[in-house]
Amino acid sequence: MTRLYLLLLALCLPITARAQDGERSPVTILISIDGFRADYLDRGITPNLSRLAAEGARGKLRPSFPTKTFPNHYAMVTGKRPDNHGIVGNNMIDPRRPSEKFSLGDPKQSLDPFWWDQAEPAWVTAEKAGVRSATMFWPGSEVAIGGTRPADWLRYDRHVGYEQRIATVLDWMRRPAAIRPAFVTLYFEAVDDAGHRFGPDSAEVNAAIADVDGRIGALVAGLADLGQPARLLIVADHGMRATDESRVIQLADLIDLASIIAVEVGPYAAIEPAAGTDDRVAQALLKPHAHMTCHRRDELPKQLHYGRNPRVAAIICIAEPGWSILAGPPPWPVKGGAHGYDNRDPEMLALFIAHGSGLSGDVGTVDNIEVYPLLMALLGVPPLASDAVGVLAERRR
Ligand code: AMP
Ligand code: ZN
Ligand code: ZN
Repeated sequence: MTRLYLLLLALCLPITARAQDGERSPVTILISIDGFRADYLDRGITPNLSRLAAEGARGKLRPSFPTKTFPNHYAMVTGKRPDNHGIVGNNMIDPRRPSEKFSLGDPKQSLDPFWWDQAEPAWVTAEKAGVRSATMFWPGSEVAIGGTRPADWLRYDRHVGYEQRIATVLDWMRRPAAIRPAFVTLYFEAVDDAGHRFGPDSAEVNAAIADVDGRIGALVAGLADLGQPARLLIVADHGMRATDESRVIQLADLIDLASIIAVEVGPYAAIEPAAGTDDRVAQALLKPHAHMTCHRRDELPKQLHYGRNPRVAAIICIAEPGWSILAGPPPWPVKGGAHGYDNRDPEMLALFIAHGSGLSGDVGTVDNIEVYPLLMALLGVPPLASDAVGVLAERRR
């Protein structure tokens, strides 16, 4: 009797295993192609992305100001604008820690939860709800925010090749159901890199676009081979605009540089007066300038939704699109491309594609904070209060 039972059990097991494979629950994959300007999708060099867009939905994401990498990656996974999520720039100073500066290139600061804990990102909320998350890079994902990290995460390393990033994601999906992630992020920097170095209209940008497109094609094929259903949200954090040395505003022509601390320079400048120089700095900067507008942080135009967080510098100067604000010699070559301008600049608009998400057609231009409620709806996890109104999530059928 027992032997017969064991035999039956042995016969049944593979069938059960196969049945479970057939019932794989869908994974939601949030893919960021850093600096993929919305209109790059119309260049005719993205067969995979264009097919996903045609089968699913496409649109344009309006980044939050400042149109930089860290503030916008965090906006999309929190639904909050930088003023409310606390990552107000790639570089910033908190008045509570005046001698330190957050910078995306400085792991001592960028991995400190102090900077991130003004908001809770999607993977933390998902983990708390029992939805397993795995991040193949995303700003903030390496940080124990509120003490929680994704179940699987990797320390950001730009040298990890794209083939390996895709293989890592597919390996996660090969795991047994109990430890297989339901939420995955994936990040590519090459399009942004090429945009900075060679400008948005360069052959190098097109090569990077085509390469990333091919990687996403390989990911989709790999998922299909596994029989793994997926919802893909493919986004970018901002666009890119051509810059050159003929369009430079030199702050040194307006004020002696010893009077200011330039926390950020480039398409926008974040300026703190050095000790005791407030009046002089305000007088020099808060007057009309060609190709640049400066505001006290509490007098910024309302539509920027920026300036209430104490981490925003005292004076914010925004360059006319295509211009660069410098404080002395440029920290990088000015000729090429840049982002960080007013988020109403059409060249700052970013990629949005949703595939398998219940969205279809052209969703138009939407604020990037709207990615968050859509993401949470796909994960089946209630979203936290945010700045988003839910326009994308509501369009799902
Ligand atoms: P940006 O200066 O706004 O153009 O920032 C883009 C850069 O952010 C890319 O070149 C990446 O190398 C960098 N980056 C992206 N993700 C991370 C991360 N998780 N940690 C540190 N740096 C990152
Ligand atoms: Zn970026
Ligand atoms: Zn960039």
